[in-house]
Amino acid sequence: MTRRGLLEALGRLNIWQQGDRRAPHKPLLLLLVLGRVRRGERRLASYERDVHEPLAKLLRDFGPPAKGGVAPDRPFWHLQSERLESGQAAGGALWQVTFDDEHFSPALSDKPRAAALKRHGALGGLAEPLYRRLRRDPALVEAAAELLLDGHFPESMHDAIRERVGLRRETAGGASLVREEREADEAALPRRPRDPDFRDAVLRAYERRCAVCDFDLRIADDLFGLEAAHIKWHAAGGPDLVPNGLALCTFHHKALDRGVIGLEPRSREYRLLVSNELTGRSAAFSDVLGLRGRPLRPPQEEALQPDPRFVDWHRREVFRGEPRSRPRA
Ligand SMILES: [Zn+2]
Repeated sequence: MTRRGLLEALGRLNIWQQGDRRAPHKPLLLLLVLGRVRRGERRLASYERDVHEPLAKLLRDFGPPAKGGVAPDRPFWHLQSERLESGQAAGGALWQVTFDDEHFSPALSDKPRAAALKRHGALGGLAEPLYRRLRRDPALVEAAAELLLDGHFPESMHDAIRERVGLRRETAGGASLVREEREADEAALPRRPRDPDFRDAVLRAYERRCAVCDFDLRIADDLFGLEAAHIKWHAAGGPDLVPNGLALCTFHHKALDRGVIGLEPRSREYRLLVSNELTGRSAAFSDVLGLRGRPLRPPQEEALQPDPRFVDWHRREVFRGEPRSRPRA
């Protein structure tokens, strides 16, 4: 069980399936499990007690919109078909499912659903050698977590997910070791590079103001709190081009990435949508509600307008729930 073998297996999960639909189900299960490894919990987790609810919640909060509800039983079962080494290296399964009920032994293709997994006492965990390796090597846990987060979620969501699964970033002492290891991993598994000019080009196009609220505060010449957001996530293959970008303040960037604000094409411009899943009682909530139906400030040049293909992707894969209706005029 090599370090490289594990990271390659996780890297394969990062290949997007079904066109450009988001597929974060297995990665979220693995992140949940990496949190257990870091806390030193038992290798085999009970589907009913340890996985069903926490994973359902992760899928609801960080997965794509799921109109028919989320299905945490699917990744729990299907992760069994992932291999550690490509090819047919013996004992190469990444994930193992067993049952307390020894008379119950479904084939992989039987795909038992949540009720059956619970009834027969399903237990799932990383393959033994892999689990032992990870227990010995906290830097490898961190590298694996980083790879999964980077492959499936925008950076603005990483801390929230880490917090939830118990994989908060290691501090000081551990960090330098992790950085060295990470450099080695990056050399082995190059990620899709980011264009260093993307941020400047986007901020310039939007005249260095948030396209939603006009936020433009500076400390001397330093624009702080203003960011270049991807409409179609970099992690989902979204290009580093201005028509896939928006200059947004930190808050509106996060709101876009979490799908509580969205865009709707309206003749030659875009109007803002606000999700009905966003709630609150503060003035901040009224501020966000006030965005419903408001136009997005366009870039300097019409040719740099957001591309409808990326806006469609965001609406389909990220925007949560239904848009709130616009206030009556
Ligand atoms: Zn803003």
